[in-house]
Amino acid sequence: LHKRSHDMAYAVRVHAYGGPEVLTYEDVEVGPPGPGEVLLKQHAVGVNFIDIYQRDGLYKLPSLPAILGSEGAGEVIAVGPKVEDFKVGDRAAYGSVPGAYAEVRRVPADKLIKLPDGISYDAAAAMMLQGMTARYLLRETYKVGPETIMLFHAAAGGVGLIVCQWARALGATIIGTVSTDEKAELARSYGCTHTINTKREDFVARVSELTNGAGCDVVYDSVGKDTFPKSLDCLKPKGLWVSFGNSSGPVPPFELTALKGSLFATRPSLFAYTAKREDLEQNAAELFAMVLAGKIKIAVNHRYALRAADKAHRDLAARRTAGSIILVP
Ligand code: NDP
Repeated sequence: LHKRSHDMAYAVRVHAYGGPEVLTYEDVEVGPPGPGEVLLKQHAVGVNFIDIYQRDGLYKLPSLPAILGSEGAGEVIAVGPKVEDFKVGDRAAYGSVPGAYAEVRRVPADKLIKLPDGISYDAAAAMMLQGMTARYLLRETYKVGPETIMLFHAAAGGVGLIVCQWARALGATIIGTVSTDEKAELARSYGCTHTINTKREDFVARVSELTNGAGCDVVYDSVGKDTFPKSLDCLKPKGLWVSFGNSSGPVPPFELTALKGSLFATRPSLFAYTAKREDLEQNAAELFAMVLAGKIKIAVNHRYALRAADKAHRDLAARRTAGSIILVP
């Protein structure tokens, strides 16, 4: 905040949809926390692929200009009326509240989670969105267990490295796709059982080989356009296709007959799995427990200054990152 008024803070805003160049680092008015809100001085902000969809307009922001980002961690510096569960000085984080790319911001207290000792701001900003996503994908969308054979695309990504560790802890066999040998090695070191380098190998043929022709129980596909409909060819009869992202572009409209073999399809979002306060708390508690028990390490592999958010976006979109990315205000 330096010498500026407490009502102002630097933030990264989008004035019009477009490429990384539309990200504008500027002073914005924050205002005091309203009823049910706290003011958070952020120590770290998470960067997620959804930020790219929101910047380029694939997902529409409610209005423009808008501060980008959904995830952050920091210290409560003021508390609005009717907030009972937080006080000044609390360490806290959130994973799904628009307006994160900022030094200081207002956050509805009912979307905020207190951080246990032992979870750093950096790790929190890197895990709230991606880690709670890993949790619901593996524990709710499909109940992964020791018998499960799963295909996970982008296994070395932010969500990917958390999923590899969590699914391994649940005893599953994980087949992960990646685009480089370095990412393959990284994914395996985080628990991925088998990796497929999609630059060299056809993933449908490799999945068939690795499963002796049987296919997978579940395919987690966040790549979208480039992996559709081939992901469906990796499933056992009655298997589940989980389409949860569009890193390569959206899945095109398709005929239901594409689900031949009595396949199931779902298009989940973290929002739905954490809409109720009790669900949010349970998701976060389970994630923190896995991290504090040492079963999951959060790979904060990329750090950028908040003002360099455009560089983070370029690297993420160009597949140059592995693990999680944070911005430091
Ligand atoms: P990642 O760190 O996983 O980055 C995306 C990765 O996807 C890249 O590193 C790359 O890995 C792979 N990829 C494949 N094709 C492309 C392409 N054409 N362009 C860019 N990347 C590509 O990002 P996140 O961890 O932030 O998110 C992973 C996915 O999960 C995203 O699609 C995101 O939208 C989705 N998501 C969905 C949520 C939900 O609730 N529905 C919540 C959170 C995330 P490689 O080079 O190895 O192929």
